[in-house]
Parts: sequence; C-alpha cells; structure tokens
Amino acid sequence: MNEDWVHCNKCFRSETPLSFYLSRCQHIFCRECLASVCPICGANMKAIEINSSMSSEMKLAFEDIEKVFERMKRIVQFQWMQRSSLEAAKIPVVVKYMEMQKDIKRLRKGLFLLNEDANKEKYKFNKARENVEFLLR
Ligand SMILES: [Zn+2]
Ligand SMILES: [Zn+2]
Repeated sequence: MNEDWVHCNKCFRSETPLSFYLSRCQHIFCRECLASVCPICGANMKAIEINSSMSSEMKLAFEDIEKVFERMKRIVQFQWMQRSSLEAAKIPVVVKYMEMQKDIKRLRKGLFLLNEDANKEKYKFNKARENVEFLLR
C-alpha cells in the first residue's frame, strides 16, 4: 500500500515507512496519532492497519480508480456478452411460442365457427322435428 494520497489525518505525515490505520469513521492515522477517540470527528476509535492483509472489501477503497474502472468495464462487457448469448438462445423458443399462440388462436376461431354451425344445424333439426311432430299429431 503506497498510495500517494494516504496520510495521517491529524499530523499529515505520509512517509511510506510509517504504518497507517483506517478508522471505522473513515479517518486515517499514523500509529502516533491513534487514540481511543477519533481526534477528527470524536467517534470511538476502532481502526485496522492499512496493509495487504486487509479484507478485499477494505483494499478496494485503496485501489487505483483507473484500474477499478478498467476492471468494471471488463466485468460489464463480460456480463453483457453472457446475457446476450442467453437472449440469443431464447429467440428460437420465443418464435416457436408465438407461432403456437397463432395456431391456438386459429384453432379457437375454427372451433367457434364449428360450434356456430352445429348450433345452426341443431336449430334446423329441432325445427324439422317440431314440423314432423306436428304432422304426426
Ligand atoms: Zn499522525
Ligand atoms: Zn473520525
């Protein structure tokens, strides 16, 4: 960790051989300026040493912004590529689904017309039967 902007927020020293500590209130101190209460904001001091054994989440705060952006760009491209591959695979299924929907619509219409015809025939048949019954009376 030798970022040029890392410095003690109290005494402003930034010599690299010094150890620096990051507090939970996001202030940075050298070992000499560490206190039980943060000298900047008055919060209870809870600090960890800034070094390579910090959690990756903490390390991220000290990374070169340009490199972070570069990595983000690659992640975005990678995920976009993966998503579009999945979308492309879905297209034939979607097309098939739409065709099936059209078929269903057509079949429904056919069924409706058949029902209409059947009703007309039933009506005619009933009329004819009424006539026959009338004649046989
Ligand atoms: Zn200091
Ligand atoms: Zn503080």
